[in-house]
Amino acid sequence: MRITVDHMSTSLPMDPADAMSPVSGSVMDRLVEANERYASQFTDPGMDARPVLKVAVVACMDARLDLHDALGLALGDCHTIRNAGGAVTDDVIRSLTISQRALGTRSVMLVHHTGCGLESLTEDFRHELEEEVGQRPPWAVEAFRDVDQDVRQSMQRVRTSPFLLHRDDVRGFVFDVSTGLLREIHRD
Ligand SMILES: [Zn+2]
Repeated sequence: MRITVDHMSTSLPMDPADAMSPVSGSVMDRLVEANERYASQFTDPGMDARPVLKVAVVACMDARLDLHDALGLALGDCHTIRNAGGAVTDDVIRSLTISQRALGTRSVMLVHHTGCGLESLTEDFRHELEEEVGQRPPWAVEAFRDVDQDVRQSMQRVRTSPFLLHRDDVRGFVFDVSTGLLREIHRD
């Protein structure tokens, strides 16, 4: 997730670039056209829904992080669960629980990254939202200052979840968006 500073300084404005898009559906049209080309080459791999590598990857939604390329993953290999920051929220635990108990995964890989937009946010973001829309969101922003510490906290949330079957093979990493390399974060 990448958030520019001037986007942040005014409270939650609409991005002017969005308002000025000549045709609001054009981006989506491009995606649908790309899908038509994709489907024309596609052959049913006949796969089971259970991930081949029995691994679930929890990662930030950042556009610079191409998980499949960066980790050498192929179609069908893993579950990917992504959100702002790659935070292990209750909803991520929900997905991991289903991943493990219904679809057979055993390992959890956490991928955060350098230059994450959440490093420039604070929980004030919620207060700004409340001021603007008259209601405070029920979720935490999950902002952080120290990415290594945030990865450790995320690993801890997975390891202490009572809902998961497999909590022994949990590893956390920081992806460097300028080198493409992962750096592993070890427990203290
Ligand atoms: Zn991010």
